[in-house]
Amino acid sequence: MKFGGTSVGDAERIKRAARRIVAAREQGRRVVAVLSARGKTTDELIAMAEEVSTAPDPREMDMLLSTGERISCALCAMAINDLGHRAISLTGSQAGIVTDTSHTKARILDVRADRIRDALYDDLIVLVAGFQGVSTSKDVTTLGRGGSDTTAVALAAAIDAEVCEIYTDVAGVFSADPRIVPDARKLPVVSFEEMLEMSASGAGVLQLRSVEYARNHGIRIHCRSSFTESPGTFVVGEEETMERPLITAVTHSRDEARITLLGVPDHPGVAGRIFTALADANVNVDMIIQNEPESEGAAADMSFTVPRSDLRVARATLDPVVAQVGIKAVAEDPEMGKVSVVGAGMKSHPGVAARVFSTLGDQGINIEMISTSPIKISCVVTADMVDRAVRALHEAFELGADQIEAEHPFGTSRVTTPTGSTQDAEGGTAMRSRGASL
Ligand code: ADP
Ligand code: ASP
Ligand code: MG
Repeated sequence: MKFGGTSVGDAERIKRAARRIVAAREQGRRVVAVLSARGKTTDELIAMAEEVSTAPDPREMDMLLSTGERISCALCAMAINDLGHRAISLTGSQAGIVTDTSHTKARILDVRADRIRDALYDDLIVLVAGFQGVSTSKDVTTLGRGGSDTTAVALAAAIDAEVCEIYTDVAGVFSADPRIVPDARKLPVVSFEEMLEMSASGAGVLQLRSVEYARNHGIRIHCRSSFTESPGTFVVGEEETMERPLITAVTHSRDEARITLLGVPDHPGVAGRIFTALADANVNVDMIIQNEPESEGAAADMSFTVPRSDLRVARATLDPVVAQVGIKAVAEDPEMGKVSVVGAGMKSHPGVAARVFSTLGDQGINIEMISTSPIKISCVVTADMVDRAVRALHEAFELGADQIEAEHPFGTSRVTTPTGSTQDAEGGTAMRSRGASL
């Protein structure tokens, strides 16, 4: 059971999480719970670091950031003990989470869960501080923003858990961020394939690495509300999802930055040098476009996007390469965003891109860059246009809760799947979007 920041935001919510954990234990389950830092704690810790340093040392940053989740776990353990159960809180390191050495974005290499298993065997409820581990050089590391989701999935895999429940402040995974689109629809089931694209394109409800980890280890994720009992969204293998809607969700990010390299010499190996330098600095490059040089051997221009939080490191990394390679100038647009439509059904339906572009065009939104995968179309737009773009696309593909109708409202026998979605007797999904065929 993993509880996110809002779900442990104050004393009352920590006690509520404690009661929920205890209720699961009393139903006969053995529980390992992963907690996030309370409310905005991680943001506040980052702000504190920036008050004392313009470029905080990454190792020390991890020492600082890892404290937020430790506070939550210790407090929740106290609350559980008061409810008459025995709990123990563990840091990521004590829980056996071993990572690589890339501070602030570490990857989990191994989970040595013996201590957790022993504690469960002793009938303890185990609380593990999310978002952190210990590196192969014995330093505290953190797993990147939203990393407690990955802690939870990795522990679920290590202890062979029945399910990994991610408790959050929304009722599950929706057809768009419900904060932007109030009539977004809760999705009962999403495939790993779609959830990977959604998380990669900004749906922060599950961290991308947690979904990758779950797919690789066959972990069942149930993403649900920490405030209600109703089922949320199951993230499952493709074979378990009956529904193949054209578009499943519209996702977005407001945290992109664009870097443009002007006058890049048109020689083999130049792009390799640029992007190797960025990769070595652990900068995640997303979209890349290069225009054709006007004539053979002339210089080209190249643009790419990076997360805004990586802009400073990216610029510092590029400076020496720019000089060595003979690039004429570097420009940056720090306030970019991205909007994407994701859906397994688009693999076999032409016309989705056309509808995306015309919808944005009708809204007067300029598309700065485009990228596609078999099940996703992403457009980079300026950050101030993101909300409008999301609402327009959600509307254009008729994804809203009130735009879904039952295909056979009467006369078909219904069965409820283990995931709670309603299906007709032939196994076809009874709920289908009216906009689902072009
Ligand atoms: P937690 O602190 O529980 O980890 P997060 O803030 O990381 O919570 O993730 C939950 C938030 O994700 C929601 O409050 C919502 O605004 C946002 N979100 C973005 N896209 C989606 C989506 N498609 N479905 C549900 N929530 C989304
Ligand atoms: N506290 C960390 C963050 O805010 C990790 C998490 O909440 O998952 O990013
Ligand atoms: Mg989160």
